[in-house]
Amino acid sequence: MIADVIEARHLVAGEWIGGGETFESRSTSDGSLLSRAPIAGPDVVDRAVQAARRAFVESDWKDRRAAGRADVLLEVGRRLDEAAEDISRLVAAEMGKPVRLTLHREVRGAADKFRYFAGAARTIEGQVTGASPAHILDITVPYPVGVCALVIPWNDPVDLAVRKLGAALAAGCTAVVKPSEETPASTEALLHLFDDLPGLPPGVVNLVHGPGDPTGRALVSHPDVDMVSFTGSTETGREIMAAAAPTLKRISLECGGKAACLVFDDCDLDKALDALAWGAFLYGGQSCTAATRIIVQRTIYDDVVAGLRDRAESLPVGDPLDADTLIGPLVSQRQVDIVRGFLDTVEPDGGTFVTGGTVDGLHVAPTIVTGVAPDSRVASREVFGPVVCVLPADTEDEAIAIANGVRYGLGASVWTRDVSRALRVTRRLEAGDVWVNTHYVRQSETPFGGWKESGVGRELGLAGLSEYVAYKRVAFDTLPEFHLKSWWEGR
Ligand code: NAD
Repeated sequence: MIADVIEARHLVAGEWIGGGETFESRSTSDGSLLSRAPIAGPDVVDRAVQAARRAFVESDWKDRRAAGRADVLLEVGRRLDEAAEDISRLVAAEMGKPVRLTLHREVRGAADKFRYFAGAARTIEGQVTGASPAHILDITVPYPVGVCALVIPWNDPVDLAVRKLGAALAAGCTAVVKPSEETPASTEALLHLFDDLPGLPPGVVNLVHGPGDPTGRALVSHPDVDMVSFTGSTETGREIMAAAAPTLKRISLECGGKAACLVFDDCDLDKALDALAWGAFLYGGQSCTAATRIIVQRTIYDDVVAGLRDRAESLPVGDPLDADTLIGPLVSQRQVDIVRGFLDTVEPDGGTFVTGGTVDGLHVAPTIVTGVAPDSRVASREVFGPVVCVLPADTEDEAIAIANGVRYGLGASVWTRDVSRALRVTRRLEAGDVWVNTHYVRQSETPFGGWKESGVGRELGLAGLSEYVAYKRVAFDTLPEFHLKSWWEGR
C-alpha cells in the first residue's frame, strides 16, 4: 500500500519543479490514484537540456578522474540498495510487476549496474598506433559524447533507466531522463537518489515528465542534445530515428521483440517447459525478450503443448504487492486493450486457445495459442502480454526459417543437448541475445541489444559504455618542416 498520492516533479539544474498541466498514474493493485506528474512542454524541456549543456561544458564532471565519477555511481548504487524495498513496492504498484520479482530482478539488478558502470568508467581507453613513422605520435583519445536524452519505457522503469544513466555518467556525459507516462513515480524515485549526492554537480542529471507528444518529441529533436538513447516500441524507435536525423544525433535504440524459442526433441524437456512457461508469462509477458514463439520439433509437439498448459494453469497469479504472486496484472487498461485486440485475431486467423484467452480487469490469463501460421498477427507481431504461440517444425531448417521470419531480432533460445546443433542454430539465428538451454539470463557485464527492427546499438557491458564515448584522433608531428611540402619539393 502506497500511503499518499505522489506529486511528481521535473528535475532541472538540481531543482525539483512543478506547475502547469498534469497527468496521473494509478495503482495496478487497487486502481487508486498513485501519482500526479506535470507535463514538460518545449520550454521546460529546453531548460532541462540547457542545464545539462551547462553542466557538461562548465562543471568538472567530464574532466575529472573517472574514479571521481565512479565514487558518485557507487554511492547512488548503495542508496538504491538501501531504498530497494520501498522502490520495489512502488514499481509493483505502478507497473504491475510482482513485488518479489521487482526487488530481486529489477531493483537489485539495477543497483548492480551502477556498481558495474562505476568500475567500467575506469576502463575507458584510447589507443596509440604503432604503425606511425617515427616523427608522428598518433593517438586516439576518448571523450564523452555530451548531452544525452534518455527515454525510458514503463516495463522496467528503474532498471532501463539505470542501464542508460549508469553508462552515460560513467563516460562523463550529462543527461535528461524522460520516464514513461505510465510510470512517472517509479523512475522519479530512482532520480531522487541523486539528491544531494556528494560530488555530483547540479545539472548533470535532469528529468522531464510527460508523454511522447509533446515532451518526448521536444527532447529528442532538441538541437542541443548530442545523443538519444531510447528503449520502447519499434514504431517509436522509428520516429526517434527520424527526429534525430536533422541534427545527426548519435542514437541507441532498444526496441520491440518477438523471441523465438527453438525446442528440439533431444532437450531436457522438463527444464525447457519450466523455463519457457516462466519465459512466456513472467512480467505478464511485458518484456521485450518474453518467450512468445515456441517453435517445436513436431515429434514432441503434443508433449510440449500439454506441459506448457499444465504450467500456465498453475503459476500463481495475483496482486502485484503480494509476495507470493508470480504473475501480476498488465500495466494499464490501454495495454489490456492492445492485448485483447490480439486475442480477437486468434480464432479468425485459424488458431485455438489451449488455455487462457480471458481478461479480468487488468489481468490477462496466461494464454497458449496453437494452430496459427507463423505469419499470423498474433505469431508475428509484438503482443506485450502473456500470450505465447506454439508452432510445429519438421526440420532444423524450418525451425530457423520460422524464427527468422519476423522483422524483430532481439531474444531467442535454443533447447537441445547436442552441442553441435546448438552452435549451428545459434549461428544462424538473427537475434542479438541468444540463450542455450535457459531463458532470462542477464548480466551487467554482457552487451544487450537487437538486430533488425529490434534496435540499433547496445546496452550494458563495455559495448554499452562505448555508445557514450566519442573518439578523437590526434596526430603530433615532430618534423621541422611540413611533410607535404618536403614531398613536393623532393626531400
Ligand atoms: P513506447 O515506445 O510507447 O514508449 C517508450 C518511451 O518513449 C516513453 O517514455 C514514451 O513517452 C516515449 N515516446 C513515445 N513517443 C515518442 C516520440 N515520438 N518521441 C520521443 N519519445 C517518445 O514504449 P512502451 O509502451 O513504453 O514500452 C513497451 C515497448 O518497449 C515494447 O515494444 C518493448 O518491446 C520495448 N522494450 C524494449 C526493450 C529492449 O531492450 N529492446 C526493453 C524493454 C521494452
